Amino acid sequence: MKLHEFQAKEILAEYGVPVPRGRVARTPDEAAEIATELGGKVVVKAQAHTGGRGKGGGVKLANSAEEARHAAGEILGMQLVTHQTGEAGLPVHSVLVEEQIDIARELYLSIAIDNSAGKPILIASAAGGMDIEEVAGKTPEAIHRQLIYPHCGFQPFQGRALAFAIGLDADLLRPAAELMGNVARAFEENDGAIVEINPLVVTGDGRLIAADAKFSTDDSADFRHPRLTELRDTTQEDAREVEAHEAGIENYVKLDGDIGCLVNGAGLAMATLDAIKFEGGNSANFLDIGTANNPEAVVTALKIICEDPDVKTVLVNVFGGLARTDIIAEGVVQAMTSGMLTQPTVVRLAGTNVEEGLKILDDSGLNVIRADGFAEAAQKSVAAAAAASKG
Ligand code: GDP
Ligand code: MN
Repeated sequence: MKLHEFQAKEILAEYGVPVPRGRVARTPDEAAEIATELGGKVVVKAQAHTGGRGKGGGVKLANSAEEARHAAGEILGMQLVTHQTGEAGLPVHSVLVEEQIDIARELYLSIAIDNSAGKPILIASAAGGMDIEEVAGKTPEAIHRQLIYPHCGFQPFQGRALAFAIGLDADLLRPAAELMGNVARAFEENDGAIVEINPLVVTGDGRLIAADAKFSTDDSADFRHPRLTELRDTTQEDAREVEAHEAGIENYVKLDGDIGCLVNGAGLAMATLDAIKFEGGNSANFLDIGTANNPEAVVTALKIICEDPDVKTVLVNVFGGLARTDIIAEGVVQAMTSGMLTQPTVVRLAGTNVEEGLKILDDSGLNVIRADGFAEAAQKSVAAAAAASKG
């Protein structure tokens, strides 16, 4: 789950990470009020789940309450387009109004999961305020890393080594190491997926302060963090992903192809995506229905898939273990007879109750494209999608 910058900063502040003074506003008047409280000179920042807001017109400096009101008026209600959002952009319903900070240096700090090491990794760079992927591509030597060993946590010596590597003055080595340790604790205790402070600022008077903050948490750990899940902002998420989440389908991810895939189990889902790619097609989503034990869940899943205008063909590829293929077949028949599912539909069933499942499809008299094997299912869906897009 992604958090907004103001939420991320609230959490980091609880862990002792210095952040600018400021508050969130939902109207220009509120923004002006906060600017007055802060003495007039503020920065007004769009709260949307994306980076690159500065370049997209989502971060504005204001030197008075009036200017803050004006800036908030321009930002609130905008559809913010950045290099991360795609053309549609993201809606902005709130702005963070903060005191302006006197920036002497912009550094970079983040923690992510290093999948190959199987551990969190803390990354620091002197090249802050820029696109870190670009820095990593052009000047990989400017990126410094320390793995975090879960059994002992981030160690002060690691912090000092990083602080030294990014060229901090002697008197900032200790505060920087402490700050990194605090960010690491915030990451761990909230089941972080990624936390990124870009820029981490050295101020004119020699203090460290997190001028920006991104925080994403691991959805699988939502159940341990009721307080965090209250911070979820569904206006920033894909509408179908939200619907799937609410229907208890944990794994629905929108992709950019035209074949909608209903599968069970993440392994089968990924294998199906690969098979479609291998046959020259592209999947429109990744939907893992899990152990669907009633046809209604199957119908809901198919609804989410077939209402996506990008979907030209639906592929149902289910290997019944605990999931019963007759229930899957029942759901497919209901979705088609009700007139909801109108795209050509390829069905491949195997495993538990497969005879019953196939009989349900046969008896329905519906025009279901049957496939016996995995490769055949992928071939037939790619062919059907190609035919459908030719019209
Ligand atoms: P992002 O573009 O979404 O990453 O948003 P940031 O919060 O990182 O803001 C973009 C840029 O705006 C920063 O890299 C800074 O250069 C600038 N900026 C943000 N806050 C301040 C501030 O308080 N004072 C000044 N002078 N610049 C700021
Ligand atoms: Mn930033």
